[in-house]
Amino acid sequence: MSEELRWVTEQLRQSSRESARLEAELIVAHILQKARHELYAHAQELVTPAEHTQICALVERRCQGEPLQYLLGYTEFHGCYLRLTPAVLIPRPETEELVELILARYSNPPADVLDLGTGSGAISIALARAWPQSSFVAVDISVEALALARENAVRNGVAERIRFVWSDWFSAISGKFDLVVSNPPYVRTEYLERAPRELHYEPKAALDGGPEGLDALALIIQESPTYLHAGGALYLEIGSDQGRSVRALLQRTRAFTEIEIYRDLAGYERFARAVRATRCLS
Ligand code: GLN
Repeated sequence: MSEELRWVTEQLRQSSRESARLEAELIVAHILQKARHELYAHAQELVTPAEHTQICALVERRCQGEPLQYLLGYTEFHGCYLRLTPAVLIPRPETEELVELILARYSNPPADVLDLGTGSGAISIALARAWPQSSFVAVDISVEALALARENAVRNGVAERIRFVWSDWFSAISGKFDLVVSNPPYVRTEYLERAPRELHYEPKAALDGGPEGLDALALIIQESPTYLHAGGALYLEIGSDQGRSVRALLQRTRAFTEIEIYRDLAGYERFARAVRATRCLS
């Protein structure tokens, strides 16, 4: 098997993959149905021809540019195991940071949370695990995404506290929440067209934010005051060049105070937070 690992690493490196060794280990471990650390204990064992064929098929697809997470069919997000298919966006480390940012702000967890465009369920599931008393509504316009998110919620033991709703943003939602959170599509259409190959494997609806990347953000910002209790907060993931526009959109509603833009670990403006004011600001 150590031979196989070396060979796979070499293949991946040829198509100039960073972290070729790590990816090789993940692919081989996946086909052999072992944990990655077990590969070394079994280093002398041989890979069967059938296993080799399966490994080759994945390596080939990876070299074509298909994201590793879709090949493996899972990813880890904030300590949660999430099954993934091309029906949902691959959760990014930035979104783990969004979860961290939110968790750090609440010593008293909010009772009712709305997650817009839940995709794989990542944000709701991670927050639900951290906040055992909170209830969640997680919406998506994709029925495939909702089915997968529900499966992930079951796997992570939080399904009874997350209601999954098929909805075009707020359209099927009623009631008020203490926290509204979203990682909406915020990439400019024009950027998406010339984006790296890997991005083309992900659902366009989860990435394409229109000409300025602001279509979904503007809609969410405009409508969220209706769905937030006074004092409730809106948290958004945003594009690195959208801080000013998002701040302006939030101000224009005259419904928010404490508007803040935060940077991610890479130093880019990436998150927005605003609190629903008690009454309309003049
Ligand atoms: N951060 C993602 C990317 O640039 C975009 C995610 C999104 O649009 N919500 O690939």
